Amino acid sequence: MTLRIENHKLVGDQVNHRDTPNRGGVMTPSYLVLHYTAGRSLESSVESLCTRKPQGNASAHVVLGRDGRIVQLAPFNIVTWHAGVSQWAGLVGLNAHSIGIEMDNAGLLKRVGSQYQAWFGKVYPEEEVLLAVHRNGGPLSPWHSYSEVQIERALELADLLVEHYGLQDVLGHEDIAPGRKSDPGPAFPLAAVKSRVLGRESDSPQRYRVTASSLNIRKGPDASFEPVAAALRKGTEVFLLEARDRWSLVEVVANAEVEGWVSNAFIAPLGNTRSTPAAAIAGAAPDMPEGTRGAGRKQTGKKARRARKQHAGQDE
Ligand SMILES: [Zn+2]
Repeated sequence: MTLRIENHKLVGDQVNHRDTPNRGGVMTPSYLVLHYTAGRSLESSVESLCTRKPQGNASAHVVLGRDGRIVQLAPFNIVTWHAGVSQWAGLVGLNAHSIGIEMDNAGLLKRVGSQYQAWFGKVYPEEEVLLAVHRNGGPLSPWHSYSEVQIERALELADLLVEHYGLQDVLGHEDIAPGRKSDPGPAFPLAAVKSRVLGRESDSPQRYRVTASSLNIRKGPDASFEPVAAALRKGTEVFLLEARDRWSLVEVVANAEVEGWVSNAFIAPLGNTRSTPAAAIAGAAPDMPEGTRGAGRKQTGKKARRARKQHAGQDE
């Protein structure tokens, strides 16, 4: 399923084209912006993004299905209407500066009895749901998970677009319109895709060390999740698989069976002797969710991809 770009159009297996009337003029893209459709299916989202409405016309360059199918709605050098009111790095209105990818995903769900329901009424089983706190804030909420093949395809597409157009960054709608937008949301491994695509980090996972006397390792990135194993002792070495603002997914170096989330405040990179917030408060109670690190460390590698595959495998 190798993809390539010819004359601003995708060519490859499982790629189809349909022209949206919701488009602007010619542009030179600098960013890639990822979205979820909050829709029912690939087909329904394509239909909606190719329809002229009395108001609220929207579109994107590409819609990516849960089975990896791609529908391109406009050439990559033509403005589409996916970003709305938005800003990033001094630019206002990202439609004129970015390529937009919409991924078929129901988005934020709500719990109804033992099931989870989308805003349009469709019900999703627990296996397709991730409980998580959005990095922009808000309560612990159910999010529709992405499929493994969809994440792999998004990565492939992002790789190609960043390379072909020399894009500066891969962003979420949630980055350029925080407060207004929550997509692609916590179920999408944006940090991992970003660092992978932009090649900022090495391909091997970075090692960290536990700095608290004992540190809980949990099922999810929040203190409300159950521990997955006995608390890690001070000095335990872990591989960093995925970093978020306050929590990171790690794997114990000495025991690959143990994988879970720990608070960033109580781990420190190995071989880094500079003072870190973690070192400064190593004596504090372990597993406090109030990690003091501002920006999440962006890190990924082969292990992260492997880990993601294992997790995402439940989605199929
Ligand atoms: Zn969006």
